[in-house]
Amino acid sequence: MMGRRQIWQKITLIVIVIVVGILIISFLQPTRKKAQMQTTTTSKAVSQDSGLPKQASVSDWQLILVNKQHARQSEIPFTHVTVDDKQMDKRIVAPLAAFRQAAQRAGYATTLVSAYRSIAYQTQVYDQSIAQHEANGMTHDQAVKLTQTVIQTPGSSEHQTGLAVDLAGTDAVAKYPQLMAQMDEFKSQQWLIQHAPAYGFILRYPSDKQAISETGIDYESWHFRYVGIDNAQYITKHHLTLEKYLSQLGQR
Ligand SMILES: [Zn+2]
Repeated sequence: MMGRRQIWQKITLIVIVIVVGILIISFLQPTRKKAQMQTTTTSKAVSQDSGLPKQASVSDWQLILVNKQHARQSEIPFTHVTVDDKQMDKRIVAPLAAFRQAAQRAGYATTLVSAYRSIAYQTQVYDQSIAQHEANGMTHDQAVKLTQTVIQTPGSSEHQTGLAVDLAGTDAVAKYPQLMAQMDEFKSQQWLIQHAPAYGFILRYPSDKQAISETGIDYESWHFRYVGIDNAQYITKHHLTLEKYLSQLGQR
């Protein structure tokens, strides 16, 4: 049998061990956090310095830039292939198929709404829209202005590259056949947006203000552009637009 004194000694010892333990843990904790913070800042600095994909160049075929400031007067030459009645550059057929098959495996059927559009076709759509507005009583200037809010001026649409697709979950297209930003309410569209980079595609016109000011185009939750896997993953990870990415590549 232990005496009272021995019991008290034991209790005191246990209390001391606990207190010392707590002190040691609380002493170590902030150091660990600090160390973590230091590693994250270091890796961030490194990726900003040299993280650009090594092989990428502004003159790569998959990085061709077409927008209002970089409009084309003539057709870009490439091998045309037809998929689901839509033409596209032969080089994106396999990546697009892989992308859509993966969506299908995840449970999402997809619809290819549009791919390559010729400058002649863009001109026709553009002119028809102006004529329609004029027929409804607008002046020519008013008709042009209204048309330009919805339709790219001929030569400035990325669809003429054959590398851009309007792709959506079949359920999203059923609800929004005219293609609306809100299509991203659908799980199918969210899946496409999230997984596009793994197949070499980027969501070309993101929704944030910075992106809209760089692309000059409002958010399009359905428009994907092929740029290759390395480029797509870098652009997405760093929240860039193609415009911004090309300017970074041009500066290195
Ligand atoms: Zn599009």
